Amino acid sequence: MRVYNFSAGPSTLPLAVLKKAQEEFLDFAGTGMSVTEISHRDKAFEAVVRDAESLTRELLNVPDDYAVIFVQGGASTQFAAVPLNLMHGGKADYIVTGNFAKKAWQEGAIYGEAVKIGDSSDKVYTYIPDVDKLDYSPDADYVHITSNNTIFGTRYAKFPDCKAPLVADMSSEIFSREIDVTKFGVIYAGAQKNLAPAGVTIVIARRDLIQEPLKICPTMLRWKVQDENGSLYNTPPAFSIYMADLVLRDLKEKGGVKAMNEADTYKANLLYDFIDNSALFKNNVVPEFRSIMNVPFVTGDNELDAKFIAEAKKAGLVSLKGHRLVGGMRASIYNAMPVEGVKALIEFMKKFERENG
Ligand SMILES: *Cc1c(COP(=O)(O)O)cnc(C)c1O
Repeated sequence: MRVYNFSAGPSTLPLAVLKKAQEEFLDFAGTGMSVTEISHRDKAFEAVVRDAESLTRELLNVPDDYAVIFVQGGASTQFAAVPLNLMHGGKADYIVTGNFAKKAWQEGAIYGEAVKIGDSSDKVYTYIPDVDKLDYSPDADYVHITSNNTIFGTRYAKFPDCKAPLVADMSSEIFSREIDVTKFGVIYAGAQKNLAPAGVTIVIARRDLIQEPLKICPTMLRWKVQDENGSLYNTPPAFSIYMADLVLRDLKEKGGVKAMNEADTYKANLLYDFIDNSALFKNNVVPEFRSIMNVPFVTGDNELDAKFIAEAKKAGLVSLKGHRLVGGMRASIYNAMPVEGVKALIEFMKKFERENG
């Protein structure tokens, strides 16, 4: 039996996509081979990469002067790739709004001066600093943000309007809200939250910014090289790219990012409304910055939280344990989480509250 999986990542994928992958697993596109066995130089596989790229361009409205590439190493490798491709003047600004934002900043500091211009750790990352009041460095090569903070359940309501190119880690929210790509220099996202199985990371980068990576930048981390080779410089993570392509087709069929955002907002509002009216459960994020993807909540009692997580699991609602840095619970309700899953969670929370409140 399939459960409702609230994992923050790897996370639930659309059932229709899993079934399609199962159906064509032994014989992909009439090749008589699995997509995991086929050469990445085979026309049938190349068509998959090109389709995933063109769907990304279409669904996010990516202009032609931006590269769209699929790379390996997860978002964490991009923490290094960002400075290695962009830090020509040796300085960049970072807004630290959570654990991954902090890691990106620390990685940036290996290669140059990584200036922390914003930090919301004073209130356990429950808000996003006012981006209009930050002290941006006039000579920064870029400004790095984490648009949705997976662990703490916050997201930018408004993006910085800065002079330096804006670089955003969108791992846990890409394809869940409409964005104006032209406002960003670079967007990157590990796939395993909202797009595909782990193994592939999508990078969208303005081409004029990526022509001269730092001398020490490894070839594999050079976005320019990946772009020139159509994401096929070396053997790509074929299965993950194939799954991403299926998810993107499914997303297009469902009406694209706008329709998905409406569905995601509806699901998140159901859950937040319930929590805000609950006498037992509480979400500590400043409402303006609440994520529509990751919803952390607590009862205020560690033992009760543990009981909740265990009983929810028995009821087929799994992976609700919060990140070890915050404790409590977290429901990740990505694009692929059906509204029925959120409703089932709320019904379970109501019952738990009646029995334990
Ligand atoms: C999960 C996550 C990461 C880390 O991704 P990996 O692919 O495991 O390296 C980085 N940033 C954000 C916002 C994430 O949610």
